[in-house]
Amino acid sequence: MKIEIDGTRLSAEIEELAAISDAEAPAVTRIVFTPTDLKARRWLIGRCEKSGLAVRQDAIGNIFARWAGSDVGAPAICTGSHIDAIPNAGKYDGVVGVLGGLEAIRTLRESGLRPKRSIELLVFTSEEPTRFGIGCLGSRLLSGTMCADAARTLTNKDGSKLEDVRIAAGLTGLLEEVKLKSDYRAFVELHIEQGPLLERQKVPLGIVTQIAAPASLRISIEGAGGHAGGVSMPDRRDALCAAAELILAVENAGRSSGAVDTVATVGICDVFPGAVNSIPSRVQLSVDIRDTSVERRDKAMREIEGARQSIATKRQVSIQTQQLNADAPADCSPAIIEVLSEGCKRQGHSFMLMVSRAYHDSLFMSRIAPIAMLFIPCRKGYSHRPDEYASPEDIARGVTVLAETLAVLAE
Ligand SMILES: [Zn+2]
Repeated sequence: MKIEIDGTRLSAEIEELAAISDAEAPAVTRIVFTPTDLKARRWLIGRCEKSGLAVRQDAIGNIFARWAGSDVGAPAICTGSHIDAIPNAGKYDGVVGVLGGLEAIRTLRESGLRPKRSIELLVFTSEEPTRFGIGCLGSRLLSGTMCADAARTLTNKDGSKLEDVRIAAGLTGLLEEVKLKSDYRAFVELHIEQGPLLERQKVPLGIVTQIAAPASLRISIEGAGGHAGGVSMPDRRDALCAAAELILAVENAGRSSGAVDTVATVGICDVFPGAVNSIPSRVQLSVDIRDTSVERRDKAMREIEGARQSIATKRQVSIQTQQLNADAPADCSPAIIEVLSEGCKRQGHSFMLMVSRAYHDSLFMSRIAPIAMLFIPCRKGYSHRPDEYASPEDIARGVTVLAETLAVLAE
């Protein structure tokens, strides 16, 4: 079968979707359930319907656009990603997997293929944690990784509840019904790499073998404040000095594992009261730890816990840790990796096997279906910023291999 995708149509759609944004071009801001996000969803549903796909939405707003196969009872083949974007982001993160997935399905339909299995495009709600503090909301619920009750407790920074926000967006079904009852034979996500390896090594495609296990902690340190002149050094219980030691302990937990896949980061440090002549009394840290091995990731977390206890004792401060999430890693399906590799070879493209340290909806889809991911290069590895860029040629290559893979899996 000769697959020729319509790159011009796809590029035009990427531009059209990028224009539905709360930030000035080239930046894209599209936060879940804002009027802009709802407008983008309507636009996308229109595109899917125009392509002849049957569209449904579940109670959290995950969009399913299905091309029915000849055996409607057989588990379907699925592809997809997300269209929400963090503030001041770019046009390609998630979108390449959604519009590229649509283009792949459209191309197969236009080629006259009659697949045995249904092929479905899945657009996940809130892959980004921007609004409700937790990433991959749609795929967590869909896969049963998060239960409906836990989702109902989620609130926005302004105090508004997820439950009220989604109902106001017209999603009135029960969250209990989001967990999928049917199963998929395979889920394949096309995505920009969001790292520099493909570009650096001049390889046009990356096939993901593993997705790292993410965990995040919120650490609150409580010491004693006071006048920066009045309180002498021996009398101090400075919360920021304790935080400084703990931040280095987090870095050390990441470095000491000896594995390149262990990473540990303190991304947020809020200091109270934050005045030049005041001893910091309270500090809040946000910690992110990831690894492809859950044992190594958990060992790093235990090291951080050990440091927490000893720093608290030594500095006479209280340090509380709240674990926000600690997800398991995912292995991609060797069978789907094989189909992707064969597709690359047939098209004459070189590829490399790689690990995804960023997590994606695929991580949660792996709980209910065999998964794989296909990466394309993005300029300098930039992502989550307005100058994020993937070339039309790189996108077309990825979409073509995706289309061929969907066709083979749907046989
Ligand atoms: Zn993404």
